[in-house]
Amino acid sequence: MVFESLANRLQDTFNRLRGKGKLSESDVKEAMREVRLALLEADVNFKVVKDFVEKVRERAIGQEVLQSLTPGQHVIKIVNDELTELMGGSQAKLNISNKPPTVIMMVGLQGAGKTTHTGKLAKLLQKEKKKPLLVACDIYRPAAIKQLQVLGEQLQVPVFSLGDQVSPVEIARKGLEHAISYGHDYVLIDTAGRLHIDETLMDELRNIKEAVQPSEILLVVDAMTGQVAVEVAETFNNTLDVTGTILTKLDGDTRGGAALSIRAVTGTPIKYVGTGEKIDAIEPFHPDRMASRILGMGDVLTLIEKAQASIDQDKAMDLERKMRNADFTLEDFLDQLSQVKNLGPLDQILGMLPGMNKVKGMQNMNVDDKQINRIEAIIQSMTPAERREPKLIDSSRRKRIAKGSGMTVQDVNRLLKQFEEMQKMMKQFSGMAKKMKGKKGKK
Ligand code: GDP
Repeated sequence: MVFESLANRLQDTFNRLRGKGKLSESDVKEAMREVRLALLEADVNFKVVKDFVEKVRERAIGQEVLQSLTPGQHVIKIVNDELTELMGGSQAKLNISNKPPTVIMMVGLQGAGKTTHTGKLAKLLQKEKKKPLLVACDIYRPAAIKQLQVLGEQLQVPVFSLGDQVSPVEIARKGLEHAISYGHDYVLIDTAGRLHIDETLMDELRNIKEAVQPSEILLVVDAMTGQVAVEVAETFNNTLDVTGTILTKLDGDTRGGAALSIRAVTGTPIKYVGTGEKIDAIEPFHPDRMASRILGMGDVLTLIEKAQASIDQDKAMDLERKMRNADFTLEDFLDQLSQVKNLGPLDQILGMLPGMNKVKGMQNMNVDDKQINRIEAIIQSMTPAERREPKLIDSSRRKRIAKGSGMTVQDVNRLLKQFEEMQKMMKQFSGMAKKMKGKKGKK
């Protein structure tokens, strides 16, 4: 998980402060030394670290102390504020042209995730009932045009291409004309990247920019490359006046330094982050929520938004009623598992819950989507009657289910046992709830 080790170190530091009734200057100094080391280790740009620590120290020492907070909590609040500020303060939304279509140019080095994120962005726009057009201007990388066309087909978003024999500037210009005559409100231009920045590439991008006058030039950078990402961002920004960054591969094994440095070094806001290879693995970037995740306070808002977008509300209500009446079956359980899977990879979801990385054993627990798949396979190998009435499942049926799902009889036993306990708990809760209702009614 991104920021995992940074988050752990900062939280350990703050846990030591939290309990203290009074903070001495040396307590603050010691804490700041640890914050500094933690940030440097997370690969945050050293100048950014220096400024950051200085700001926090100044505020922490010479400060009005809020009455509702202990001094320790107060330092945490300052760090939280400053982290948020460092990443841009508030959410930076897409610039929209007041004369549609809004043209968005996607730029970046090869392999950063430009084409993938052109698709992801189109999907987000589509969800908002917009009509994007994708324009294929990467004529150099073999298969880039095809990749965009496949994405377009998958999303049912049209892709404008003139093959690889026409100049990218011409393709961009014609693409824009096409969008205007077909009533598209967004034009997403996928441009070429190189393995390294070079002048020819920059010239071409400058020419495309001039030809289509984009409202938004989004630089796509790979967070895994750490400080290199920050340098790349600076160079692109100097030539093109980039309007926003998309930081990709934040799901990978990155220490997160780029996320914390890019805005401060280039002055360009991060607008989105990419969190996986799938087409919906993209999130609008909220500096405050990210700071909260880093400090172990979770990001419940993003989790709720994800849940609202991907969970079927009617089903959820139905489930709630069944749980209340304790007639929850294995069939419902299966349904629920597939809904949880829709939210995204489990470890990302858990990372959004407050304090989750502090729950004993959670850090090392390999929460693994495969486990869900195994449970699903077992339930799917049961007959509908068995799913409703697990008592039917005797030993010969257990053998059959194990065989059908490719699991062992022990696996099946374990699942049935867990389910039985779950049902017991629900019965207890529903009994309690009914009693409480009864009491209320008498009043
Ligand atoms: P381009 O050369 O900049 O257009 O890069 P692509 O869009 O082709 O992406 C390069 C590789 O990175 C592909 O294998 C993508 O699946 C992968 N990729 C892109 N974005 C992400 C992301 O957010 N997370 C992960 N894990 N992989 C990504």
